Amino acid sequence: MAFADKLSIKAKYPFLPEAKQAFISLGFDLESFRDPSTKPIVDRAISRIVDALLYGENINPNIAAEDDLTELASFPLAIILAAKTGDKYLQRRFALAEASTAYKRLNMEDDPELVLRIAREVFRIDVEYDDSYPPYSYTVGLADYLKSASKFNDPVWKLVNRIVVRGRVYIESRELIRLLRDKIERYILENIEKAEREVGKLPENLEEAVNNIKNKLPERKIEDLTLREGSRPEAWPPCMKSIYSKLTSGESVSHFANFMIAAFLINTGVPTEEIISIYSQRSDFNERIARYQVEHIAGMRGSRTRYITPSCSKIKTNGLCIEDGRLCGNIKNPMTYYKKKIKEIKKIDKDKTQQTGEYSQSSS
Ligand code: SF4
Repeated sequence: MAFADKLSIKAKYPFLPEAKQAFISLGFDLESFRDPSTKPIVDRAISRIVDALLYGENINPNIAAEDDLTELASFPLAIILAAKTGDKYLQRRFALAEASTAYKRLNMEDDPELVLRIAREVFRIDVEYDDSYPPYSYTVGLADYLKSASKFNDPVWKLVNRIVVRGRVYIESRELIRLLRDKIERYILENIEKAEREVGKLPENLEEAVNNIKNKLPERKIEDLTLREGSRPEAWPPCMKSIYSKLTSGESVSHFANFMIAAFLINTGVPTEEIISIYSQRSDFNERIARYQVEHIAGMRGSRTRYITPSCSKIKTNGLCIEDGRLCGNIKNPMTYYKKKIKEIKKIDKDKTQQTGEYSQSSS
């Protein structure tokens, strides 16, 4: 392994159009990777994915292949291998780690033109260089800013906290790179989806590589709606089921969605450990942060007050209610839905037990 600063720009940032062009001009196809001379490329593609699984966004951005060609060609190959695993968690974690690597590398660059070019030419962000209000270095068009920054929870991204002049929002260099990180992650996920649709059968050595990668996947503690203790998932309202299934498939959800499902699960009796293990499916899982947040909501830290489940109206305001509550009746809180369903389930269980008892008495 070498240090990334020795590589060319296209090897460091393999999502650039010139990197794609360079790869095409090499004339590789999948069969080329049977050739022993391409083994370093295959090995680097595997290590890109395995390192992503191990380190996620804490990946070291300096680690790279010894040479430009290996680093550059291993990126599209890693996308294909990740696609062929068919594992959404792995794919998200790979995209997150690659985007984090690019983010860290871009923050180390001292060429503002490079960041500007990537933002404009690759991701079509409406951005201009403008340092008239230090420490800001760029302005972004209002529409693009709102589209990109709306998913950040930190108040610093709120429009009221920004300088806006004639429809353009001033941002710092590191903030523009942060916006790029999300674009790069999305770009990688889109390319994985494309490879899933379009790439056919792999040569045996690559099939073997995919199987080896799959063996490195962490054991899933929870699949689908199967909780070990507390709560009855079949009694959850649609909004909670929807967030739960997103979390367990590794998708990231908003800060509010994380809060509302954690508060709901705590109030239905799910132990905190179980809730933390649900978050472990997320590609950016950090156990220390997840534990702190869940224990805080459960009243085990800070003010020692257990949070109540947010009301339906609050959930609706955050756009997380399903079909505007049509499936839930006229309720004000998801806990009402849950308690009502639990009563129904218990009644069904009781009736079944009685029927079984009557049947065994009559048949004895
Ligand atoms: S009505 Fe309430 S419980 Fe039902 S989906 Fe909407 S927010 Fe959830």
